[in-house]
Amino acid sequence: MKAAVFYEPGGPEKIQVSEVPDPQVAPDQILVKVKACALNHFDLLVLREADPETFSFPFWGGADISGIVAEVGKSISQFRTGDRVVINPGLFCGKCEHCLSGEESLCESYGIIGDSMPGGFAEYIAVNEENVLKLPDGNSFEEAAAMPLVFQTAWRSLMTRAAVQPGEDVLILGGSGGVGSAAIQIAKLAGARVFAVTSTAEKGSSAKGLGADQVLDRNSGDIWKELADLTDQRGVDVVLETVGAATWDQSLRSLVRGGRLVTVGRTTGALAETDIKLIFWNQLQVIGSTMANQKEFSDVMAHFFQGELIPVIDSVFTLAQTREAYQRLEAGEHFGKIIIKVDDD
Ligand SMILES: [Zn+2]
Repeated sequence: MKAAVFYEPGGPEKIQVSEVPDPQVAPDQILVKVKACALNHFDLLVLREADPETFSFPFWGGADISGIVAEVGKSISQFRTGDRVVINPGLFCGKCEHCLSGEESLCESYGIIGDSMPGGFAEYIAVNEENVLKLPDGNSFEEAAAMPLVFQTAWRSLMTRAAVQPGEDVLILGGSGGVGSAAIQIAKLAGARVFAVTSTAEKGSSAKGLGADQVLDRNSGDIWKELADLTDQRGVDVVLETVGAATWDQSLRSLVRGGRLVTVGRTTGALAETDIKLIFWNQLQVIGSTMANQKEFSDVMAHFFQGELIPVIDSVFTLAQTREAYQRLEAGEHFGKIIIKVDDD
């Protein structure tokens, strides 16, 4: 089969389309003919940081996959050839104490498709049955591929970990990123008032279109002062942190007493100073969140199937254009998801 592979770590220039062996299907696995696969910032990290000691090359990325069942293993009964499906990229053992308690994203051997194994920038992928969800006819393959990684991340962080309540004020950093644009919609679904940080007027109006009540443009003034003014100096109940080092201190300072900061990423770096007095005196909670458990994944996807959550698609590329798609992601000019349409049939 064809795949958009790389043979060593580096930038998008390392990506090329090559022939690779077809995947083998184990008895408890499903072979999916990939229709669409979305890019995530995560794919750039894997490409840049793929360690030759642990990766076997050629390798290919792609966590967010939709497609059609091409073959089922002997022990599969819930799926049949021809089913439209979307894949949950979270890999877990199913046996450790966390998996047994239904918290798969806490699994001791947790991994993600496109990092722990080759992903969806290829014509086929074989995955375990528990990673596959049926896709209703009304949802396109491109939209389905835009959902899994960012929407489950945003869902768990806001709904479960920070437990956003109706009427609360929520600040979403990186409001035009994949997680951010999902988080705006999910925070609105939870009944919150949403403040979203973006970087241009155009992205700001897109964030408003998704439901953000207030948009803060980080390139046109002091967003922290603006936020304080907009909340009458009270601060917000919840901050969704994706930015890391560049905003960490101000994110903590923007919280109301008793507020919660939930972190799911660190696009500007993982090391930041924390004023400990802020944490105890203001009685803040700092909460981590990663991906989602099986129940949260099916919950968030059900909202998508029902049309209550809508992924934003920036652009669609072919498999042959995967390098260009990585370049567009790296340039950071997109709003929403960049999709590889692997199969045009
Ligand atoms: Zn486990």
